[in-house]
Amino acid sequence: MQKQNRPACSKIQNMSDTENYDSIFKPIVRKCLLIMTENHCSYCDEHFWETKKLEVEHFKPKAKFPELEKKYSNLYLSCNSCNKHKKQIYPKIEPIRPDDRNYEFSKFFYFEPDTGNIKVLGNNEKAEQALNYLNLNRSSLKQARFDFCKIWAEKDKRPDLLSFRFII
Ligand SMILES: [Zn+2]
Repeated sequence: MQKQNRPACSKIQNMSDTENYDSIFKPIVRKCLLIMTENHCSYCDEHFWETKKLEVEHFKPKAKFPELEKKYSNLYLSCNSCNKHKKQIYPKIEPIRPDDRNYEFSKFFYFEPDTGNIKVLGNNEKAEQALNYLNLNRSSLKQARFDFCKIWAEKDKRPDLLSFRFII
């Protein structure tokens, strides 16, 4: 989960609540979020050349938080797999988000090249919640990270997680 800077999405600021979510609101938000993530999934960092595979999704589930359905700050681009594996119950402690002001991957997490696991630095509860809520250590992601590191090891180089983001 790399740092993202949320751009302003000025077109939606003047929209009324009654405007159609799927046909008007969502495509505008999507364009803004594609800029924010550079065509990556906000959570697992997978890159999509074919950006229609990225879905606009609600960080806080809209079923539980209907008032946030059109709240730009609650919307992220996610791959289908992250959307599917995200936990159904929103945690009591707010998980850290990729566009939180003070967020940087290396401030909150580290990466184990020999297992593919992402671990929390220290005892940061918000970071723990994000790992768990977004299911960022599911087996498919661990395997992808592990495989990526193996390629780097064969080149006799230290893996660089930022490069990982741009390769998978
Ligand atoms: Zn993803």
